[in-house]
Amino acid sequence: MQYQQDVAQAQEIARLVFPLMTRIGIPMNPLNYALWYEYQLGRSEALVAALDKIQSGDEPYDPDKANALYLRYVATPGVEALERIESEVCRLLTDVVQIIIDAGLDLGKYSHLLQSCSTRLESSDDLRSIRKLVATLKSDTSVMAESSRQSACALKARADEIDLLRAELDKVRQEAVMDPLTGLANRRAFDEKLAESLDDTLQQLRKICLLMVDIDHFKMINDEYGHQIGDKILQYVASVLKKNFKGKDMVARFGGDEFAVIVENAPIAGVQKVAETIRSQICDSTLKRTDTGEPLGKVTVSIGYDCLKPEDKPGDVLKRADEALYSAKQNGRNRVELFRRQ
Ligand code: GH3
Ligand code: MG
Repeated sequence: MQYQQDVAQAQEIARLVFPLMTRIGIPMNPLNYALWYEYQLGRSEALVAALDKIQSGDEPYDPDKANALYLRYVATPGVEALERIESEVCRLLTDVVQIIIDAGLDLGKYSHLLQSCSTRLESSDDLRSIRKLVATLKSDTSVMAESSRQSACALKARADEIDLLRAELDKVRQEAVMDPLTGLANRRAFDEKLAESLDDTLQQLRKICLLMVDIDHFKMINDEYGHQIGDKILQYVASVLKKNFKGKDMVARFGGDEFAVIVENAPIAGVQKVAETIRSQICDSTLKRTDTGEPLGKVTVSIGYDCLKPEDKPGDVLKRADEALYSAKQNGRNRVELFRRQ
């Protein structure tokens, strides 16, 4: 997100944001300030809706949720890295152009010399002057060869730098669509893939299902064992999900303790089966703290799912899978449920 407000406009926003954050008891850290600054700007309806709930007291402030909102609506991953790569590429291009111009000038001089040698050769008939001409030609050719060698080396060095930048760019591109904690696709990548799936004219031929997976009572796990262990459990659940899907399927961290999976080409019975496998693998696992070896309590997940319909608008299938997940929670958790219209 770009900020184009001038001093007066930014001050006006600060004048509104400070008392608001103080009134609702939001810690005044840079992340929260950025969130509430965006809230005042009102550019993202979804962010405004999420923060409205906190403002009205419907939802308590939660640092993890704030972090998730920040990553989703405010941070533009890799922007600084991209800007640096862009300026490096500009510098390299300028260098390369200069090397080519210099080499061109040398080549021009050399071709001029060859021409004058050839004219002088036609008019000279004594051995001495021909010898002299050949000596000039030899020394200038050596100079030219050295200059070409230097140009080639300089170009090779720039080509190597460009290769490094390309690798860096790939990494930044990858990070922009990846959740750093679990290594899964992030919400941004998931939203894009879901939109693509909806656009896809082949959708009717390729059955696409959406699963929502949420850890049961994760808040209690955090409260009992701390956030670091909570993070390890998020990574564990992510690894189980990753193991059970492959190919074109996308496993993403949807936010907080919720994951979403887009499954392609799978009959509904197959999706139910794999969801059951995931649920039971997580439920049957005996997790231990890596530092003390102390066993952790049972970790379970609830899963809701449904398939895409040709007439779906963005969000429809998400809503249905989410309702199925809600129903799995209501019916006792540690369950898999397919969406059923009430
Ligand atoms: P339910 O069974 O209904 O899903 O209950 P729950 O406690 O899992 O649900 P709730 O949405 O109340 O809690 C989710 C918790 O996930 C709250 C938040 O502190 C925690 N959380 C979100 N993101 C992270 C994270 O990145 N790391 C850790 N450790 N906790 C997180
Ligand atoms: Mg949960």
